[in-house]
Amino acid sequence: MQIAGNLLIGQKAVRGTNGLIRGLDAATGTALEPAFGGATRADLDAACELARSAFDIYREAPLEARARFLESIAQNILDLGDSLIERCVVESGLPRARVEGERGRTVGQLRLFAAVVRDGRFLGVRIDPAQPERKPLPRPDLRLRHIALGPVAVFGASNFPLAFSVVGGDTASALAAGCPVIVKAHSAHPGTSELVGLATQKAVRDCGMPEGTFSLLFDSGLEIGQALVGDRRIKAVGFTGSRAGGMALVNVAATRCEPIPVFAEMSSINPVLLFPTALKRRAEAIGEAFAGALVLGAGQFCTNPGLVLAVDGPDLDRFVAAASAALSATPAATMLTPGIRKAYEAAVGRAAQHAGVSVLVHGGEATTQHQGQAVLFSTTADAFRRHPELHEEIFGASSLVVRCPDMESMRDIVESLEGQLTTALHIDDADHADARTFLPVLERRAGRILANGFGTGVEVGHAMVHGGPYPATSDSRSTSVGSLAIHRFLRPVCYQDMPETLLPVELHQENPLELHRLIDGQPETRT
Ligand code: NAP
Repeated sequence: MQIAGNLLIGQKAVRGTNGLIRGLDAATGTALEPAFGGATRADLDAACELARSAFDIYREAPLEARARFLESIAQNILDLGDSLIERCVVESGLPRARVEGERGRTVGQLRLFAAVVRDGRFLGVRIDPAQPERKPLPRPDLRLRHIALGPVAVFGASNFPLAFSVVGGDTASALAAGCPVIVKAHSAHPGTSELVGLATQKAVRDCGMPEGTFSLLFDSGLEIGQALVGDRRIKAVGFTGSRAGGMALVNVAATRCEPIPVFAEMSSINPVLLFPTALKRRAEAIGEAFAGALVLGAGQFCTNPGLVLAVDGPDLDRFVAAASAALSATPAATMLTPGIRKAYEAAVGRAAQHAGVSVLVHGGEATTQHQGQAVLFSTTADAFRRHPELHEEIFGASSLVVRCPDMESMRDIVESLEGQLTTALHIDDADHADARTFLPVLERRAGRILANGFGTGVEVGHAMVHGGPYPATSDSRSTSVGSLAIHRFLRPVCYQDMPETLLPVELHQENPLELHRLIDGQPETRT
């Protein structure tokens, strides 16, 4: 498969004529070949029409066929071999080992969703059999299953060019649910996007899925992405990126004639809470581990530890000394795009100038204009409370230590925070009583609460939550990582007193698919 700079509209490769998008070598800023043509309104219309016409066929494809389709995408991605890894490394500036690991995660989550589809439990089948003799009124026969929402628009993330991009978690979960997907590729990695798009297009063909099951569009501005969300044939949106971008799309979706859900994962500073006994016993070890988590991927993780809260004193000083020593020995790292690096430098510059903030340490100096230098700041609890701008995410290897006078003020600060993807507690046994008083507040603030670790490194599994209250996401009721993500793209339909011949097979009395079902609220006994 060759990178040609094309849009993928169903099974066609189409040259976009609406402006140009260029991939860049992240380390040098050099423009890469080929240039990509942006989609026109006509291209968008063609992709949406194909997705619309594919929907009723794709969503009723047998579960086994849908599962094999997901596995086929995974295999085709692996078959791209080194060409995918090399292009992704150049476009993202991420180290090869990280990109290879991310490919493993991408393939792994496609296979996980294949298993979820085969299992069939996601259909959530419930049957309340008729009770014709019930007094005073007979009960009707009620049968519920979940169906796919409709074609989904996915906006890939810049910082996970594989696992959160063209066939990342959003696309995998939408396809698993039975939704055709139209991806608006992230302009930071167009070559990577086209390669993965070609692998997916081939799987559609090989598995006999309807043509409009998958399309990939490039946009040279913001127009086509917004028009995609505004298109009446799109029924839901998955997005990972900035708060401004996510909210722009939420607003487009909300003002349509038919508003649709947008699952946007946006901004989080992932507070790290250091409790007194843990700090006393392990300040140096926690400080070093914190520095490692902060600089991972040049700090360009949505789960990056951007805020540290602890009671001021000599133990916190030991933590800061250890983190500072580790950070100052860490070389600067290439950032994803010139735009992201510029935004990082600007935000770090503003923090450094802030009257209530001091710089604790800088990481190794940048040796190219494409690198970001790590930085650790500190402030007081009082200044942090009075300056909401200090609560904002700085996307990159920057973090802020807040020195609190006591545990009570630390709890007040947690209460004042916006919604978060993660929060991490560093605790020893003697801290449990204190930690317990924080948990109700943390549950209200975050999607995932960890003990003695950092939020970076999101396990893809059944019990993972990668979500949280606004602005971590635009809808806190779900997750974008893990098998639960499939439920974002499903809705329940109930069939009342419907003759069996008209019922979908999942709801037939004999349970021919051997699904896990609830009968009158109880698990069905399977013989
Ligand atoms: P971004 O600028 O929000 O872009 C994400 C995607 O949305 C891109 O495809 C972009 O198009 C599109 N887009 C942005 N604004 C739009 C608008 N107003 N209308 C229509 N489409 C729009 O995000 P980014 O480039 O990844 O920038 C990095 C920022 O994202 C960071 O500062 C960080 O705060 C945030 N981020 C958060 C997470 C998280 O998980 N919470 C993860 C990664 C990044 P183009 O491709 O044309 O730019």
